[in-house]
Amino acid sequence: MRRIQLRSQVGILRPKVATRYGICMGCGVGTRSHVLEPAEYESYDAEIIINESDAFASKEWEEVDTVTKYAISQSAIVMCHKCWVKKKTVFERIINANHTKWIEGGMQSIRPVMQILKSLRYMQFEAELSDSTRDKVRELRVMSKGLLTKSTEEE
Ligand SMILES: [Zn+2]
Repeated sequence: MRRIQLRSQVGILRPKVATRYGICMGCGVGTRSHVLEPAEYESYDAEIIINESDAFASKEWEEVDTVTKYAISQSAIVMCHKCWVKKKTVFERIINANHTKWIEGGMQSIRPVMQILKSLRYMQFEAELSDSTRDKVRELRVMSKGLLTKSTEEE
């Protein structure tokens, strides 16, 4: 197959393609249990020969077709379930220990609260949290949304 660069595109996500095994960012074991960041692909057009002259032909010829191929340009970032559960436990502990302080702190807490909501999204913890932690997260989210809308209105 000839690789030709007719149209090349980078940074393509392919959500339907199963993630390949990668190295857990926590402990280095091979895994694809939790995909924190999907792999990115590069696409290019390639020529495949679909028909060609046989050895006895007086004149050589070939018929080609162009197909789009993909190559991984950036591997997925993955974590094994053991590390993920460990992180989730720490995450819950942080929320439970700081929740009241953050709610009382209001605008002063916006930075750590945004940070915690960001890692919640990144680690995809939400569905697996205990009910009480999920309630606290919800409260923090409502609070941060309220504070952020108010501060943009004031500007
Ligand atoms: Zn691990």
